[in-house]
Amino acid sequence: MSLQLNNITKTYGKRIVTEALKGISLSVKDGDFLGIMGPSGSGKTTLLNIIATIDNPTSGAVLVNDKDPHAVSEKELALFRRRELGIVFQSYNLLDTLTVRENIALPMALEKKSVKEIDARVNELAALLGIRKLLDKMPYEISGGEAQRTAIGRAVVNKPSLLLADEPTGNLDSKSSADVMSLLTKLNKEEGVTTVLVTHEAQAASYCDRVIFIKDGLLNNEINKGDNPKQFFQQIMDVLTFFNTSL
Ligand code: ADP
Repeated sequence: MSLQLNNITKTYGKRIVTEALKGISLSVKDGDFLGIMGPSGSGKTTLLNIIATIDNPTSGAVLVNDKDPHAVSEKELALFRRRELGIVFQSYNLLDTLTVRENIALPMALEKKSVKEIDARVNELAALLGIRKLLDKMPYEISGGEAQRTAIGRAVVNKPSLLLADEPTGNLDSKSSADVMSLLTKLNKEEGVTTVLVTHEAQAASYCDRVIFIKDGLLNNEINKGDNPKQFFQQIMDVLTFFNTSL
C-alpha cells in the first residue's frame, strides 16, 4: 500500500504547548521498508502513532492508498486497523493468559476465520519465525527475543499491507535484535508488507531500504540504501554523530 503524509503537525497541551511535529511530508511506496530515526524527543513515536491512528494530527493529512484513515467512519477505521495494519511495540504487549499460538491466532479469530485456516497460517508463520516448538508455551516461559517474534507473528497474521514497528529491538540483546530485523526484512520482501520502523539503533536501521531523520519535529535528512548498500550503516552513523555533536 502507498502511504502519504501531507504537512503533518502535532501540538500537545493547551497551557504548556509542545510542538512535537512542525510539518512533515513524506511518501512511502508500496513494498518500501522505511526507517525513522532522530534524537530522543524529536517526534518519531508521535509520527508513528499518527500513521497508526493511535493519535490524531493537529493539522495535515495521512493518506493510505489515497484515503485518510483519520477521516473515515468508526466502522471503517476499525476494519482498517484489523485488516490493513500490523503494529509491533518495544514491550511486545502479548496477552499473558494466552499461549504463543493463541496470541498469534487472536487477530484471525476476531476476523472469524475458520479453525483450519487459522491453524494453517499460524503454522506457516511459526516456521518462518522459528518458534514452532514454542507454540504451546505461555509468554512468561519464553525469552524477550521469542516474545518479540511472537508479537511479529500476531501483527502479520492477517496479512496487513502496512506494518509499523516502534523500537522493536529496544529491549533485546544484539543477537535477538539481528534475528528480529532479519525477520522484518524477510516479511517485507516475501509477503510484500510495506514497513515503517522507528529506531534509535543504527544497526537496526541499516536493514531498511531508506532512512529518514527527524529533528525538532522536522525532516532533517534522508539516506537511501540503494545509493550504496555497503556504506549505508556508516552513513547512518555519520548523521547520528552529527546530531550528537550539534546538540
Ligand atoms: P521520540 O519518539 O522521538 O522520542 P516523541 O514523539 O515521543 O519523540 O515526543 C516528541 C515531543 O512531544 C517530546 O517533546 C515529548 O515530550 C512530547 N510528547 C509526546 N507525547 C506527548 C503527550 N502525550 N503529551 C504531551 N507531550 C508529549
